[in-house]
Amino acid sequence: MTEIVTKVNLLGLDRQALEVLFAALGEKPFRARQLMQWIYHRSVTDFDAMTDLGKSLRAKLQECAEIRVPEVVSEQFSEDGTRKWLLGMDSANGIETVFIPDHERGTLCISSQVGCAMDCSFCATGKQGFNRNLNAAEIVAQVWLANQRLGAIHGLERAITNIVFMGMGEPLANYKHVLTALHVFLDDFGYGLSKRRVTVSTSGLVPNLNKLAEECDVALAVSLHAPNDALRDVLVPINKVHPIAELMDACRYYVRNQDRSHVHITFEYVMLAGVNDGLDQARELAVLVADIPCKVNLIPFNSFPGTQYQRSPDEVIERFAEYLWGKGIVTITRRTRGDDIDAACGQLAGKVQDRIHREQRMRDQMEVRV
Ligand code: SAH
Ligand code: SF4
Repeated sequence: MTEIVTKVNLLGLDRQALEVLFAALGEKPFRARQLMQWIYHRSVTDFDAMTDLGKSLRAKLQECAEIRVPEVVSEQFSEDGTRKWLLGMDSANGIETVFIPDHERGTLCISSQVGCAMDCSFCATGKQGFNRNLNAAEIVAQVWLANQRLGAIHGLERAITNIVFMGMGEPLANYKHVLTALHVFLDDFGYGLSKRRVTVSTSGLVPNLNKLAEECDVALAVSLHAPNDALRDVLVPINKVHPIAELMDACRYYVRNQDRSHVHITFEYVMLAGVNDGLDQARELAVLVADIPCKVNLIPFNSFPGTQYQRSPDEVIERFAEYLWGKGIVTITRRTRGDDIDAACGQLAGKVQDRIHREQRMRDQMEVRV
């Protein structure tokens, strides 16, 4: 009988968990730091190449562990420098990861789930429905792969300076795995990013938002999109469970829990023509966020097939932004990036599954032909 041994994927373990693993193997904790440097600073996945680990430890690792990254199903380049990877997570599921260079900043937009259960009415991922959570290794692997593809060399110029959970999925609905991934992103022996440069974006899962406030210090973006419950119930249905007042309390709690005095929350607000873009709504929004240190990020709606919404005209967005500025609220209008490769906010979906299935069908056909 052949024994099937499931190897642990080390990309899914933060430093603390690696130390537990090494202790179980009869090794010292500092081995975890050495191993992380090989994986995250030098992009090495072959245990044999990790020369300072010693032969017997390398052999032990070969037996029980692996460093496995998903298959890159496709890679697309936008005219503006944006890059998008479609990653095959298993035979049926794919997700997208997007790299957005902007002057000295390089932002990687990663996914936390295949699809999303939150069903926001203006979001292509939401329309696709929920397939499954990504595990911590699958979340961390997105950064590992992008880093490798971008040819980043640790200590030299950094390709990825910022990570945002703004790809597919609701990160706080996959709390445990997202938290582990955050540890790897922030750890000096992992990607060593500062807390300001790692952003969790949420539609407002209040209980887990409160947990995050207590357990991890990262930047927070809240997808508000409407200044009152009647409208937010329609746009962001989780609002029916955790209405705006509760969400605002959680935001205040979040700010109080962070260990920096200059901390602020980013409120995301998608601009939907004739739906949430009027001056009355700007007024309501200004009152709502008045006592929260924040900035507002206006996102021109990105269209997708079958949607009932339209993007607000530029002048309407400008007027909305000007009103908020007038109230002393820092308001940024997000530029749409990677338009030509469908890499913009809320467009990561639909086609993913289609393409995975198409690639799979092509592979099956090739196998039949051979
Ligand atoms: N689920 C999380 C993070 C992923 S979505 C969240 O909702 O915050 C990242 C951002 O893109 C969110 O602010 C989301 O509301 C926004 N978004 C979704 N669909 C969009 C679309 N079609 N056009 C513009 N922004 C969109
Ligand atoms: Fe999910 Fe965010 Fe899209 Fe809403 S906007 S459906 S929470 S991915």
